[in-house]
Formats: sequence, C-alpha cells, structure tokens
Amino acid sequence: MANQFGGQPIFILPEGTLRQTGRDAQFRNIMAAKMIAESVRTTLGPKGMDKMLVDNIGDVTITNDGATILKNIEFDHPAAKMMVEISKTQEDEVGDGTTTAVVFAGELLKKAENLMEQSIHPTVVVRGYRMAKEQALKILETLGKNITPNDILLLEKIAMTAMTGKGSEAARDKLAKVAVEAAVSVTHSENGKTVINRDDVKIEKKQGGSLDDTELIRGIVIDKEIVHPNMPKNIKNAKICLLDCALEIKETETSAEIRITSPDQLQQFVEQESNMLKKMTEKVAASGCNVLLCQKGIDDLAQHYLAKKGIMAARRVKKSDMEKLAKATGARVACSIEELSEEDLGFAGLVEEKKIAGEEMMFIRECKNPKSVSILIRGGTEHVVDEAQRAMEDAVYGVMSALEIGKFVYGGGSIEMELSRQLRKWSESVGGREQLAINAFAEAIEIIPRTLAESTGSDPIDILVNMRSAHEDGKVTYGVDVHNGGIMDMEKAGVIEPLKIKTQAIKSAAEAASMILRIDDVITAKSGGGMPPGGMPGICESQRFSRSQRALLD
Ligand code: ADP
Ligand code: MG
Repeated sequence: MANQFGGQPIFILPEGTLRQTGRDAQFRNIMAAKMIAESVRTTLGPKGMDKMLVDNIGDVTITNDGATILKNIEFDHPAAKMMVEISKTQEDEVGDGTTTAVVFAGELLKKAENLMEQSIHPTVVVRGYRMAKEQALKILETLGKNITPNDILLLEKIAMTAMTGKGSEAARDKLAKVAVEAAVSVTHSENGKTVINRDDVKIEKKQGGSLDDTELIRGIVIDKEIVHPNMPKNIKNAKICLLDCALEIKETETSAEIRITSPDQLQQFVEQESNMLKKMTEKVAASGCNVLLCQKGIDDLAQHYLAKKGIMAARRVKKSDMEKLAKATGARVACSIEELSEEDLGFAGLVEEKKIAGEEMMFIRECKNPKSVSILIRGGTEHVVDEAQRAMEDAVYGVMSALEIGKFVYGGGSIEMELSRQLRKWSESVGGREQLAINAFAEAIEIIPRTLAESTGSDPIDILVNMRSAHEDGKVTYGVDVHNGGIMDMEKAGVIEPLKIKTQAIKSAAEAASMILRIDDVITAKSGGGMPPGGMPGICESQRFSRSQRALLD
C-alpha cells in the first residue's frame, strides 16, 4: 500500500497486508455477520431444528442451543467473531436468549445494508439505531409485568419456556419444578434488593437412569467417596466439619535423615507418629462432628481412627465445593485443627454415599435453609444428559434473571411484535433520515415472530398479518401458536420469559451491529509473522524447495 508524496510512494504497511476499505469492507462485514445469524436462525423456538456438530476428532454434539453452536464452530472473519461475542455476552448476562440476540443483530445489519444502498450514510443508521434502542428499552420497561419468588406457577412457566425445543420435552414438568425450586431457594434479599448468585446452583450430570430421576438436592452432591470401608455409609442429623488442612504428619521442609539403629527405635518412631495422628483425630472428634470433609489429605492411620469413632470422612474435596458446602450447611471452613470448635460445624439432615452410574458420590442433603443447592441430572444416554444440562441451565438462569429484575414478558414473538409496533409509531415523532433507521430497527425486530412463524410450517405471512392486526386491536399478548400454525394469546399458552432476556438481547445486538457498521477499513496482518508472500526476501529460488526436490533439480 502506498501514498504519493512528492512523486515518491510511501509504504506504511508491511507488504502482504490485506486491506479492504469503504463500501467493500462494510458489505463484507455485513455479509459475514448475516451468515452467522443465518447459521443459528432455524434453531429458534420450540419447533426449531437441531444442529449436529462434529468436531475434528469426530465427537458429535446434537443441539438446538445457539450459544453451544457458535461456541463449537471456529470462525475466521473478524465481524463473524464479533457476532459470536454477542452470544457470549448474552450467555454470561442472562444465560438464555442467545439465538434471539444473534438473529436480531443479523437482521439489523441486513436492514442497514438496504439503507446504505439507498445512499444513507452508516453514521445516520448508527444514530437512528441508537435512538431506537433507547426507546425500545423504555417501551420494554412498560410492557414488563411484576414477578416475585412466591409466584411459583409463573416461574415454572418461565422455566418451561426456556426449555422448549431443547430435546427434554418428555420430562419438562419435572425439570421445570426442579429448576424453580433450586433458583428460589438460593434467592435472598439484601437491603431490599434481590441477590442471586448463579454459582449457588450447582448442576451436575451423570449418565444412567432416566430424565425423571433428575433431582434437586437441598445441599450438595460431590464427586467423592468415603475414604475408609469401616466408616458409616450414611449419617442422619449430620454435624459437618469442613477442614482446610491435612490430617497427616507434615514432612519436614528441609530433608532430614533419621537414622534408626534398632528395631526398638523403629517401633518407637512408628508409635510416635501414630500417637500424633490419633491426637489429631481426637481433636476433630472433640468438636462433636460426625462427618468430616477435608480439602487436603487424610493419612491412612487417621482414617482408621476416624472410622473407629464412627466419623464419616472424605478427602481432597475441591475448594469450590468447600465454599458451596459452607453455604449449604452453614459450616465455617476451619484452617487448623487447633482452632476447631463446635461452632464451626454445619448441619445436614442426611449425608450418604450412593453409587450413581457405577461411581460413588456423596450427597449432603436436607440442609436447613441452604444458600447453595445442587441439581443432579440423569438420563439414558450421554447426548440426553448433555442436552438436558443445557436446558436446565437455561431454565435455572432464566428463572434467576426473572427474579433478579422482578419482571417478565410474554414470549412467542408477541413482545417483539408489540415493540416493533410501538417503535414505528414513535418514529413518526422523530422524522428525518433517522426515522428511516428507526423504522428499519422496528422491522428488524420482527425477525423473531417471523422466524417462529416460519418454523411452524404454515404460511408465515398469514401469521404475521394476523398478529399485527391483533396487536392493533390491543391484544398485545398475541404471539405465534407454534403447534397449530396460527396466532394465540401467549398468556393463555403460558409462554413467558424474563424481561432481562429481551433487554439484554436488544442492547447487545444493537451495540454489535453499530460497531460493525462504523467500520470502513479492515487491515489484516499477513499471517505467519508478517513475512511477505514467497518467503524471506533474498532467498534464492532453489532454497525454497525441499531437499528431495532439490536433489531432483541437481
Ligand atoms: P434463544 O436462544 O433465543 O433462547 P430458543 O430456541 O430458546 O432461542 O427460542 C426462544 C424463542 O421461542 C422465544 O422467542 C420464545 O418466546 C419462543 N417460545 C418458546 N416457547 C414457545 C412456545 N411454546 N410457543 C411459542 N413460542 C415459544
Ligand atoms: Mg432459549
């Protein structure tokens, strides 16, 4: 690339750098983004299709989940990567609505392309989109309805809506109940504000059994076994000690050599060690605990002494699990045996070891008012449990985000249709070229009801026309009846979603689209360390042949 300066070309970029500018760059970026949106669009909604992903070692994932699809495909184009970012943000912020966000962003760009073809400058489009986004968020706020942790039936509907189409249809009722119970039990309020921590619901899966065996544990499941065969396998009214130090004799830091010259001495040495370990276990027992969960190791001999005292123990429990155990049982993690006291202990109605799909697991159940709970997903095959886990995540996080904001909306495309209608009306008050962009935004948002309508197999135009006129008549909760290919009141159908899905999807889609539209120059460094094509300058032709080729040349 060169600029003319006094007749001399000036090279400012290394040779081999790829550069696209102006319209060319814009349209290529838009094309890449549209392709991403198109790749997940058909999965939208309960009648959405599944995608089968095969990775480079032949592992197969079958899924309907937008985020999972995009996570598993590698994209090269920078604009495509920005689209993938949208789905990540949506996943992190809400945990659901990823397809919606990506499809909407794709449509925003498609409409922008039309406007640019009519010679409307991208900055005008970006400005119009920003205005539309802000207004859309205001409208959404007015359309949101209140919801509290007591509205169990509504929350279950949110869970079910989140799970539709995720391949776990058969056990949906059961899974929805589990999701709501889990989310509600970790919800608490601090200074009048609802606080929920996603990590407080641990979702575990184990292949085997059926989806119906999926259960909520008011406590924690840990992937551990009891350390000693003579320990009890279950303990009712468990008093739990959480320990973050080893029940072992510390090895000295500096390597000391102990010379033992007689069998007596050896005996003495062993006895001394054994006594030390015995004392340690006595201190643990003195706290009054009957279950010990240790983050570090437990010596074989210490295990033996604990077993003799009827204490159940597990060792090398993960740090993250220790934190959850503390929250669930009310225990405090003790850092040394010396400072251990009865006050540090936690409580669980039952601690038991059970064999699940051939592996031992420990269940810490029936905690009082647990601030952390577990869901154990079961299912016949690996694919079933995997997809059920994704469905469960969507459901739990969906319910959480509804509780967090305290608001829900009606789905099935009804909210988008209403939003579009109100935006279009509002745009008249704006006027100018921005009005065109706002209208384009309003049209773009209809991609959600349109895609749901297409997924029914009936004529999507009919469905959209009927929906539009229902909304004009004030039936704002009318959306797509995916099962019969018509329109229906989503309040009656029980299709409801957290408001946050929609606000976040609109925010991140609009922001990503604007960012892509503002780019008019794509400068791509040459891969492979910036070497110009053809290898290093100054290397003669024959040096670039392989040895065998050179042999032929010679
Ligand atoms: P996303 O990744 O965006 O969550 P989904 O495949 O989960 O994509 O589809 C979500 C869309 O499907 C939402 O617009 C939601 O309202 C709609 N939907 C879910 N269940 C139903 C239903 N029973 N009838 C109509 N629409 C539904
Ligand atoms: Mg969803």
